[in-house]
Amino acid sequence: MSTIEIRKLTKQFGAFTAVRDADLKVDAGEVVCLLGPSGCGKTTTLRMIAGLERATEGDIIIAGQRMNELTPQKRDIAMVFQFYALYPALSVGQNIGMPLHYEGLSKADADARVMKVAKILHLDEVLDRMPGQVSEGEKQRIAVARAIVRDPNCFLFDEPLSRLDVELRHSMRGQIKEVLQGLSKATVIVTHDQLEALTMANRIAIMKDGVIEQVGTPHDVFAKPANVFVASFIGTPQMNLVEADLRSFGDGMASVVLAGQEVALGVDPAVSRLKPSKVTVGIRPRAFTVSQDKARDTIEAQAELIEPMGAETLIHARTGLGSDIRVVVPREKRVKVGEAMHLRPDPRQTHVFGEDGRAVRA
Ligand code: ATP
Repeated sequence: MSTIEIRKLTKQFGAFTAVRDADLKVDAGEVVCLLGPSGCGKTTTLRMIAGLERATEGDIIIAGQRMNELTPQKRDIAMVFQFYALYPALSVGQNIGMPLHYEGLSKADADARVMKVAKILHLDEVLDRMPGQVSEGEKQRIAVARAIVRDPNCFLFDEPLSRLDVELRHSMRGQIKEVLQGLSKATVIVTHDQLEALTMANRIAIMKDGVIEQVGTPHDVFAKPANVFVASFIGTPQMNLVEADLRSFGDGMASVVLAGQEVALGVDPAVSRLKPSKVTVGIRPRAFTVSQDKARDTIEAQAELIEPMGAETLIHARTGLGSDIRVVVPREKRVKVGEAMHLRPDPRQTHVFGEDGRAVRA
């Protein structure tokens, strides 16, 4: 069974801890993206799974077997790197078939396998060309074809699309996802591009400073971020995170003082368990309705900067105390600079984070 599991995986470079106590299980046929800012430990985690870096502590279990001490070859993993190298003197077909070299297949069987993956990746027309005669997108697909031509235990991808331009990246995301869905293998993809993770992954593991902060489906990490970091990292434009004083709770509404205004916010009932305290209120820019009138559940702010984004408009609004609140409205909604806005957050999309930065949720 193609599975990958890491348990309490830790990597130290001298006194520096690059990865700390990472736990993750990837099932057969599942794609998990390791996502996080530069330097958070994604690549180090992937390299430990691959056997290219030795784990300081913890277990690496592939296909049910502990593999910490095994060489990369013995782990039988197919990897696609950011800087994949194709052999320039070999044809596309020979490049794809290279990993089959040591499998002892007959030429006819090897050719059939190459043709099969070439068809999956729409490369069958270019098999006789040389790498210098194909496009960047085709080169990327050749690297993927070369990885899936064997029947490895699992797949690891390290920033596989980062060298491609935006258009190509967009179409490749869909193509790779489709290919992986047909393979029933455990796959880990490292990326710092959240759109890549949100579109390609079944689940996303979000890392910061060597620690996995949350593992969840793309919907979960977006709709139920576990803490302030995940909330700020996932979603564009970024979630508004405003410090507030929680005063009391009643009838599903929290009374808070936020940017100098006393506001009643519809929030998760678990907030009732909190004592009056400092909290962070998180509201996505698309989770407001803009009203003409002040009410007890609206936040007052003045439109300061208006950025058209095509079908939508991003408004930077400033509260009396100077907090910048990002609001996204449909293009048809006309707002002028200087206009007073009364912003009503959607209670189902209003997050409260406690003093420790963790989401307060039932
Ligand atoms: P990026 O997206 O920039 O590649 P990353 O999340 O993949 O970042 P890693 O490459 O895993 O991050 O690095 C994690 C941390 O470990 C970084 O601070 C890095 O400088 C450090 N690090 C990585 N390799 C070594 C090494 N061989 N010796 C010392 N420190 C290292």
